Amino acid sequence: MNSLWIADGHCDSLGDLTNGKRDLTGTADFGHWDLKKAKQASIGLQFFAAYIEEEYKPFLASQRGLQHLEQALRFIDENLDDVFLVRSKQDLDKLGLAKPIGLLINIEGGEILGESLFMLNLIYRLGVRSMGLTWNGRNAIADGVGESGSKGGLSRFGLKVIARMNDLGMVIDVSHLNEAGFWDVIYNTSSPIIASHSCAYGLCNHPRNLKDEQLRALADVKGLVGVNFCRDFLDVNGQGSIDDVVNHICYISEVAGVDTVAFGSDFDGIPAPPDGLEDAAQFPLLIDKLARAGFNNQEIEKICNGNFVRVLNNVLK
Ligand SMILES: [Zn+2]
Repeated sequence: MNSLWIADGHCDSLGDLTNGKRDLTGTADFGHWDLKKAKQASIGLQFFAAYIEEEYKPFLASQRGLQHLEQALRFIDENLDDVFLVRSKQDLDKLGLAKPIGLLINIEGGEILGESLFMLNLIYRLGVRSMGLTWNGRNAIADGVGESGSKGGLSRFGLKVIARMNDLGMVIDVSHLNEAGFWDVIYNTSSPIIASHSCAYGLCNHPRNLKDEQLRALADVKGLVGVNFCRDFLDVNGQGSIDDVVNHICYISEVAGVDTVAFGSDFDGIPAPPDGLEDAAQFPLLIDKLARAGFNNQEIEKICNGNFVRVLNNVLK
C-alpha cells in the first residue's frame, strides 16, 4: 500500500474506450492506464482527456468530442464502485487513498466548441471541468505550438472562451498552445491555469515544452505544470527515463517553486513510455525517486496531489 495518493493531469485512455479496443477495467494485456493499474498505483485523481483526433477537424470535431464525452460518462456509470465524476469543490473531499478514483473530464481541443460559446455551457452541464484550448494546430480560439510561426495569440472568440471558463469554474489547460496564446491566457485569466502535460524547455528544447518565463508565469497565477512522460519531451535524444521525469520536476521546482509542479503522464497518448515508468502501475516508483532527489515529505505530497487539489479548489465552484 502506498502512503500517498497520486493525481495525474492527463491520460488519453478514453480513445481506446470510444474505439472499442478495451473496456479499461484491466482485462486487456495492452495499454498504459486502466482501473487495475490506477488502483495499484493509488491514483486518486485522474484528468481523463477526450482527445479529438485530427481527422475529425474541423467539421466533425463537435460530434467526435461529444462521442468521447458520452463514452466517459457511461464508463463512470458502469464503474461506480471504482470511479466518480469530479464536478465541484465538494467533490475534492472525496479524493484520497483507498477511495474511488475521481475522474475529471478534460476536452483536449477547443475545436469541440466550433465558434459557439453555448457549446462551452453545454459541455459544462454535461460534467466537463477542463479544456485544452488547442492541440498542435489552429482553431477558432488560438494557434497550437505547430503554428508558432504565426505569432498569433488568442482570437476575440478565444478571449470570450477564457472569460466564460473563468465564470463557469473550468480549468484552462494551455498544453499544446503556442507562446503568444499562452501569454494572452496569462494576462486575461482571473483563475489559476494549468499546463496539464508539458515539460521544461530549459532541459529539453522541444516546442511542446515550457520556457523558464512561462513556468514562472504559471507560478504567478498559482497554476501548475503536470510533467509529461513522453520520451521526446524529457530528453533531446528521445531517450527519456524515469530519472528524466525526476530531473524535470527538480528543474521546474527550482525555476518556479515546488507549488508549480505535478504529474501529467500522457499515458496512452505517448508512443513509448520512459524506461522505469512503463505504465500507470509504476507511479509509486516516482515517490521514492523524489525522496532521493531531496524533496521532503511535504513537498512530495504537493507534487503527488496537493498542487492539483489547490488549483481545483481555486477554480471549481
Ligand atoms: Zn496532448
